[in-house]
Amino acid sequence: MKQLGESTWIQEGPTNIGFIVTGNSTVLVDSGNDKESGRKLNKLLKEREWILKAVLNTHSNADHIGGNDYLQRNLGCEIWTPEVERSFTEHPELEAAFLWGGYAPKDLRNKFFRAKPSSVTRAIKEGDEIEGAGRIISLPGHFFNMAGVHTPDGVLFLGDCLFGEEILEKYGIPFIYDVESYMGTINRIRDMEARWYVPSHGPVVSDIAPLADKNLHFVEKIESRLLELLSEESGFERILKGVCDSFDIKLNAGQYALAGSTVRSFLTWLQDRGLADYSFKENRMLWSRGEQSPPV
Ligand SMILES: [Zn+2]
Repeated sequence: MKQLGESTWIQEGPTNIGFIVTGNSTVLVDSGNDKESGRKLNKLLKEREWILKAVLNTHSNADHIGGNDYLQRNLGCEIWTPEVERSFTEHPELEAAFLWGGYAPKDLRNKFFRAKPSSVTRAIKEGDEIEGAGRIISLPGHFFNMAGVHTPDGVLFLGDCLFGEEILEKYGIPFIYDVESYMGTINRIRDMEARWYVPSHGPVVSDIAPLADKNLHFVEKIESRLLELLSEESGFERILKGVCDSFDIKLNAGQYALAGSTVRSFLTWLQDRGLADYSFKENRMLWSRGEQSPPV
C-alpha cells in the first residue's frame, strides 16, 4: 500500500486499486481481476478497519470489475459506474460479444473477458461530487464511457486513459475504442493539475506530460503504419497482420479480439477524416487510402 495523500492510498498491482478513506467510509477505485482480488481487498480493508461504502469502477473491463461480485456479496457495498459501463458491469457477457462482434469463441468466454456480474447502485457522470471522495471526470476513448476521479487531496485516478511506458512497449497496441475521444481525453488530462496521477496499469507519476506524449506517440505510430499498409488495397486480416508484425505482437484469440477491435476503430477514424476508405470487390471488404493526403 502506498499513501498518496491524507486520505488516499493505492495498492499497486496488475491493476492499481485506489482507496479513498473519509471518516469511516471507504471508496475503492476498481476491484481488480477476479474473486481472488476481491478477497485480498476485503482482507486489506479488515486489517485497517476501513468500512467499504462503494466500489467506483472507472469502466467495465474485467480487470477492473472482477472483484465486484465478491465484495458486494460479502460486504454489501454499493457499485458505482458511468452509464454504458453500467450495462457491461451488470451483463459482462457483452464484453466478449462486443470485442468479437458476435457470439464469442470459448477462448473469450473466460474470466479475462467475462467478470462475474454485479449490481450497479449508482450511475456516475462528469462533474458529480462524491461525498468526500472527489469529483468525477469523464474519460472516454479507451472504452465507451470511462470515468476517473479527482480526490480532494490531489490524486487523479485515470483508469486506462493512458498506460505506463512499460505496458505500452510490451503490448504495442493499447486497446482503444474511439481514437478521437482517446486523444481528446489525453490532451485534457495533460492540462489538469494534480499532485499524483494514477494510471490503472503502470507506475504513479507526478508529471503527466511525458506519459501523455508517449501515449499519443503510440497513436501516431499505429496511424502511420496503417497508412503505409493502405497504400496497397487490403483486407482486414492483412492490415491486422501488418500492424502486429511491426509491433512484434504474437496473436492469440484474446489478442486477436483486442488488437482487431482497435485496428477496426483506427480504420473508422481514418475514414472519418478522409484518409482511408473501403469498397467491396467480389464479396471482400477492401481498404485503401482515402481522398485526403495525410498531414505531414
Ligand atoms: Zn485495464
